[in-house]
Amino acid sequence: MDCVFCKIAGKKIPADFIHETERFIAIKDLFPQSPTHLLVIPKAHYSSLMECDDETLLRDMMITAKDVAKKIGVGERGFRLVINTNKEGGQTVFHLHMHLMAGRTLSGDMG
Ligand code: 5GP
Ligand code: ZN
Repeated sequence: MDCVFCKIAGKKIPADFIHETERFIAIKDLFPQSPTHLLVIPKAHYSSLMECDDETLLRDMMITAKDVAKKIGVGERGFRLVINTNKEGGQTVFHLHMHLMAGRTLSGDMG
C-alpha cells in the first residue's frame, strides 16, 4: 500500500523511532511544530479515526501516548494529544495517528 506511515512502520523508509510496541510506533514528526513533536502511530492501517472501530486499539493508542510522555519526561510539565481527522480537521496523512506535542507552553488556539 502506498502509505508513508505503513512504510515507516514496516521499516521500509527511515524515521526517528522513540518507542515501539507490538501494535504501535512513536516517531519524531519530520516537520515539528513544537520543541517536542512526536507521532503515535498504530502499525495497522486505518485511514482516519472515523475508519477505526477497534476500541482496544483506540484505548491503547492513548495509553501508549501516555507511556511515551512518561518515557521522554514531559508527563509532569504537560503535553497535548491531537488527532486531526479528515479534511476540515487538517489531516494530511491518511493513516490514523496521534500527535504528542510538548516542550513549551502550547498555543491556546485550538481551532
Ligand atoms: P496530520 O496533518 O495528518 O495530522 O499529520 C501528519 C504529520 O506527519 C505532519 O505533522 C507531518 O509533518 C508528518 N509527516 C509527514 N510525512 C512524514 C514522514 O515521512 N516522516 C515523519 N516522521 N513525519 C511525517
Ligand atoms: Zn498506512
